[in-house]
Amino acid sequence: MLISHFPGYVEALAPAKLNLFLEVVCRRDDGFHEIETVIVAISIFDTIRFSPTEEPEIELTSVSAMGRVAQARASGKTEALMGDVPSGTQNLVYQAVERLRRRAGERRGATIQLVKRIPSAAGMGGASSDAACAMLAANDAWGLGWTRGELSELAAELGSDVPFFLGTQAAICRGRGEKIEPISGPTSLPLVVVRPPEGLPTALVYKHCSPATRRVTAEPLVSAFRKGDLQQISQNLTNGLQPAATTLSPWISRLHDEFNRLDCLGHQMSGSGTSYFGICRHFRHARRMAARLRSAKLGYVAVANTISTPRLFPKTASDLQGEPHGYHRGSHQAHGRL
Ligand code: ATP
Repeated sequence: MLISHFPGYVEALAPAKLNLFLEVVCRRDDGFHEIETVIVAISIFDTIRFSPTEEPEIELTSVSAMGRVAQARASGKTEALMGDVPSGTQNLVYQAVERLRRRAGERRGATIQLVKRIPSAAGMGGASSDAACAMLAANDAWGLGWTRGELSELAAELGSDVPFFLGTQAAICRGRGEKIEPISGPTSLPLVVVRPPEGLPTALVYKHCSPATRRVTAEPLVSAFRKGDLQQISQNLTNGLQPAATTLSPWISRLHDEFNRLDCLGHQMSGSGTSYFGICRHFRHARRMAARLRSAKLGYVAVANTISTPRLFPKTASDLQGEPHGYHRGSHQAHGRL
């Protein structure tokens, strides 16, 4: 997480994520699904500006970044492409900060400005990342001194993906997604990402998914990621939610077919969709793929790379909570040059 200090406020960058691997292991008695997933943070960011105030209220304003609006307008599908970002108390940023304020017994309030760039209902974790980032900004600006372990417990109450974004190092996540085991690797993957003009609610996709009947493990992908082997990473992309999302939105098979025609090393849907990404050979390649996808008018298109930011907290027992413990194989192309 990247936090900068300015007189009177802190500014934090909340990155999007992609799932390089996601398998639905089983449906649990509590209604949630047990998953195994490899998540990477990527270089598409929302911005959160957090200014502490003496008054006890939390005030949140949310705006879309100019570049995003321009791209959406150019495609003529502004509403569909920007997605719904609730204002005020419905926004996860508000809920995260208010919850932290109450638990910490903090008397001060804050004005928060959220600038959205991450497409919503896209499987890119925008709301979760904003929530984690807002908690970090509040912890910092109010001088609460909470450890990552303490924040992580609170974060898990807000959503399964929220604890991941307290770190943003690539990680293998289990349980509902809240048991995090960081993965180190030299990899900065060059990527192209598309969010079509239709999103999918995460809960709906999980409702329609089937746990894997033949279990695939994340190990080959993790080992390729550690080595920075782009070909092997591409060949081991997996998303167990893609078949369900394909039945719910025509965009998933359309994007699959479009990416098949491109020369990406591998491609698949991220999380519960509808965003879809391809792994490219290098950034020039990614920019070329993005230009082709833009001319096909498939929605919001961005070039990005995986990122890894330093830890903000000392290691605590809760950092070590990840324990060793079903699918669509992401599409890949074997070889070829531009
Ligand atoms: P995930 O990958 O975690 O499933 P997602 O990308 O599919 O997430 P998000 O866009 O992160 O979905 O959020 C889902 C919904 O949460 C949105 O459609 C919106 O109604 C609501 N929401 C609440 N707070 C926010 C926020 N800060 N930014 C975007 N959406 C938010």
